[in-house]
Amino acid sequence: PETVERIAAGEVVTRPASVVKELVENSLDAGATSVTVDVDGDGTARLRVADDGHGMSEADAELAVDHHTTSKLAEHDGIEHVSTLGFRGEALPSIAAVATLDVTTNDGGPRGTRVLVEGGETTVSPAGRATGTTVEVRKLFHNRPARHKSLSNTEFARISDVVSRYALLRPDVRFKLRHDGRDVFSTPGSGNYTDAVLGVYDRTVAGQSTTFDHETSVAIDGVDHSLRLEGVLVYPSVTRSRRDHVHVAVNGRTVGNAGLKRAIVSGYGTLLPSGREPIAVASVSLPPELVDANVHPSKDEVAFVDGDVVESAVEDAVHEALTTADL
Ligand code: ADP
Ligand code: MG
Repeated sequence: PETVERIAAGEVVTRPASVVKELVENSLDAGATSVTVDVDGDGTARLRVADDGHGMSEADAELAVDHHTTSKLAEHDGIEHVSTLGFRGEALPSIAAVATLDVTTNDGGPRGTRVLVEGGETTVSPAGRATGTTVEVRKLFHNRPARHKSLSNTEFARISDVVSRYALLRPDVRFKLRHDGRDVFSTPGSGNYTDAVLGVYDRTVAGQSTTFDHETSVAIDGVDHSLRLEGVLVYPSVTRSRRDHVHVAVNGRTVGNAGLKRAIVSGYGTLLPSGREPIAVASVSLPPELVDANVHPSKDEVAFVDGDVVESAVEDAVHEALTTADL
């Protein structure tokens, strides 16, 4: 079992930011309308994600920290149709293999449950908590000194990127990020992309923006597929920086896709003053058969069956949104 745990942990839990990503995705999968992320330092000593999602029963909470237990896959016909962010049941046990995992949860019953996994021992006890789940991770990588030492002092910036991305792509959810007891940002959960941008970014930066919601279709091999693109475009945007401010999601999953990001920047065209780069949030929905099945959905990178066609549709949509906006 030790070997299995180590392999799984290596894949899913590479750094504090990846732990935060897994926990935030679990909160979103649980239907949370509010997600609070609390981090001490670089996240290794303590990080915590609390949500108001549907929570877990005592039995489910015990199962959740076990290997390959997912409550999600059974509801779907296959990996390409997975609509939840998680589906492998690996995140919580992988975290428990390299940290102390402290889960407090309540699925709406009269009392909640605490499941503490520490040094391979699992303790279950009753706990007071409103409906929802709090996952606290302590002493991350205490048993992996090499991994712990290789963390740079910019780890919190990575965590902040992860939370920002979800806060921007899910404006319907209230997000709050705290670092060393201080509020870093919060979003109101109004459902409006501009409100989310105002929460995450400085007011002066986010002052001019246009939200868009665009439906179009792309023809691939003579077959039309519908594509929907929604989000917010900010201009004139930030001065060129090393941070990436073009946030994209495909079918609800935050992804990296260089072509898609290029298409969005191209859509700005001459509207983008030189030396600036855009802040943009674009959530693309398209039929799953257009997403390259060879790229496993657990990966952050996504590829399209016909990338050129998708990219030019995105570029056109962004250009149209900007040129018809009331600037
Ligand atoms: P996966 O997300 O791939 O199913 P995880 O290890 O991330 O696997 O979580 C295991 C299970 O624990 C989930 O399937 C879910 O049932 C439950 N779970 C984890 N986090 C939460 C949460 N925040 N709220 C409710 N249930 C959760
Ligand atoms: Mg998960």
